[in-house]
Amino acid sequence: VAKRKTTGIQIYDPALDSSSTQTLSLLTELRYAVDHGQLRLYLQPKLTLADNTVVAAEALVRWQHPTRGLVPPMQFIPFAEQTGFVRQLTLWMFEEVARALPALRADGRPLRVAINLSTRDLLDQDFPAKLDAMMAKHNAPTDAFCLEITESAIMDDPQRAEATLNRLSERGFKLSIDDFGTGYSSLAYLKRLPVNELKIDKSFVMGMETDESDAKIVRSTIDLAHNLGLSVVAEGVENQLILDKLIALDCDEAQGYYMSKPIPLPDFIAWRTKQQAA
Ligand code: C2E
Ligand code: CA
Ligand code: CA
Ligand code: CA
Repeated sequence: VAKRKTTGIQIYDPALDSSSTQTLSLLTELRYAVDHGQLRLYLQPKLTLADNTVVAAEALVRWQHPTRGLVPPMQFIPFAEQTGFVRQLTLWMFEEVARALPALRADGRPLRVAINLSTRDLLDQDFPAKLDAMMAKHNAPTDAFCLEITESAIMDDPQRAEATLNRLSERGFKLSIDDFGTGYSSLAYLKRLPVNELKIDKSFVMGMETDESDAKIVRSTIDLAHNLGLSVVAEGVENQLILDKLIALDCDEAQGYYMSKPIPLPDFIAWRTKQQAA
């Protein structure tokens, strides 16, 4: 249940689901937030371990609420998914990233930005066409985008998901399986889908320092990814020890607070300039 620590105000209480008043008012608030610029694009770098460069980042949404402050996505994304509003949110994110791309690539270095998709997007037959329109509007290259999809979003309706993912891949979007190892994924699907990358869930990465099974899961996932010809990213890297272990295991990329927390666009551009100079 999403509760604001400081005041105890609840943003959304599933226990009150029967009260459609609550649903309506949060939906109204979210719509207002999108239309009135209350949502914020944050970016978190993905570090390439082979050469210590940053050529990828993940886009993460924040809600700058007028009275509640900066609201984290877990307090409204699940609700947005339930109501279907998440589809508008996904498009908002694509637009935001497409607009930011020229500034992000102003120094001539390549950067690919990952955007999180929801089940709703995968089930929406018109989603690829909506992205076509968005890309055309901003003259944005599709291969600058990586789409992160969880295993559970795919397994909700594997056939429709596969059809959508094929259409997205044909357009040049890169595809990544997010939170790998936490859902009920089928390796048969993994083999069939046009996926480029696996992201090892942070629970395993954070646990590998102390838990032998977590370390084994990380090692096996890296091997599995490489055997399938996929790139592999470890998320939730919080210290040098884990980073060193991932380098030793031949992991391709690392993402986590140790490198940088998710930060606003201008801070990200400054961070990357500094990182490159170092
Ligand atoms: P995710 O896609 O698994 O994103 C990674 C989350 O892990 C982010 O949380 C990030 O801040 C956090 N994280 C990164 N490095 C570390 C670390 O070293 N340690 C720890 N403890 N955490 C780390 P965030 O930004 O709060 O997002 C939470 C979830 O909300 C995301 O999980 C994603 O499922 C969802 N989300 C965020 N933005 C969007 C969006 O634009 N669209 C959709 N559909 N979902 C989003
Ligand atoms: Ca993600
Ligand atoms: Ca993840
Ligand atoms: Ca997650």
